[in-house]
Amino acid sequence: MSQAKLQIDLSALAHNFSHLKRQLHSTTKFMAIVKANAYGNDALIWSQTLEALGADYLAVAYCQEAIALRTAGIKLPILVFHPQQEDIEALVAYDLEAAIYSLEQLRSYSDYLTASDKAHLNIHLNINTGLNRLGIRKKDVPTVIDLLQNQNKLRLTWLMSHLAASDDLAQLSFSEQQAEAFEEVCHSIEVELNQVYKKHLLNSSGIFSLAHKQYDMVRSGIALHGYSNLEKIDPDLRVVAALKAKVTQVFQVSKGEYVGYNFGFQASRDMTVATVAIGHADGIDRKFGQKQNQVFFKGAALPILGNICMDMFMVDVSSTSIKAGDWVSIFDAQHNADLSAKSIGTISYELLCAIGPRVEREFILLEN
Ligand SMILES: *Cc1c(COP(=O)(O)O)cnc(C)c1O
Repeated sequence: MSQAKLQIDLSALAHNFSHLKRQLHSTTKFMAIVKANAYGNDALIWSQTLEALGADYLAVAYCQEAIALRTAGIKLPILVFHPQQEDIEALVAYDLEAAIYSLEQLRSYSDYLTASDKAHLNIHLNINTGLNRLGIRKKDVPTVIDLLQNQNKLRLTWLMSHLAASDDLAQLSFSEQQAEAFEEVCHSIEVELNQVYKKHLLNSSGIFSLAHKQYDMVRSGIALHGYSNLEKIDPDLRVVAALKAKVTQVFQVSKGEYVGYNFGFQASRDMTVATVAIGHADGIDRKFGQKQNQVFFKGAALPILGNICMDMFMVDVSSTSIKAGDWVSIFDAQHNADLSAKSIGTISYELLCAIGPRVEREFILLEN
């Protein structure tokens, strides 16, 4: 029935998980990031697989993502990176952990829990060290300490920060500075609260570029998909997902004719054209047409013609004997999502997480 599918190879996921674990000390915990439907794959199947593989923690961006996983029976601790003030009740009810990134949030969670008969909430304190996205500012640390000392419902369990450019080897000294700033703030909190806390800092690229700062846990999303953002590393990982779409019609176009909306392409010769059943609504960016990107069929590269439409696009198949019912790859293990993303000026993360709900997720299961 499906006209487009994302084939997800769970044995490649298992391979990447073990490869990442091998970079770590035996005591370093592993948090698998499954936000945004596990980067467009399938958050529940990924979480179940990672739970079975031995991941220690899961993390998502927003509370409703975590609730869906809990409701479906996921038992691992789940950290919510970007919870909202109104999520406090659900965080407690669903046994989630919250990253605390602002004074306002800390105050409101603490006030709510103190006034209620609700149990405690485990929190990770997110310290801003240079990304300037979310996080407690250094100047606010004394206030945070004060707030934490004067309540007993929020349990500080982890200290965390996030690197700005762990995938850029030319900026390693900036990453090092972030780690130093992180340690400085951690130290001041530990002295004041008279307790040592566990810490996590590294994302996927950081595991490879800044391995000596793995602390007590690392957080990995994209590397589980087979992409480290570091050319040297990628050959050790396996690509998990392949995006494929069906050819639904093959026809002749004469020299001089146009293809698609707004005369996006004009044939300079007689050619054979095929319609492919995937479009904007499924996550295919308009730039794929404008940059004359290609899709792949049995090793042959088929140029995209003209503008991408909402539900389909056209390709030049003059060089092949493709027919209706055949499947082409937008990306796969040979022509991977990182290369495909780069060719339109974006990154694998954006391409993967944009894949829409109409695309069937098909799993190649783990053998055991
Ligand atoms: C998304 C995210 C990660 C995962 O990053 P990858 O580069 O995909 O490994 C880690 N930490 C935080 C805070 C994130 O938001």
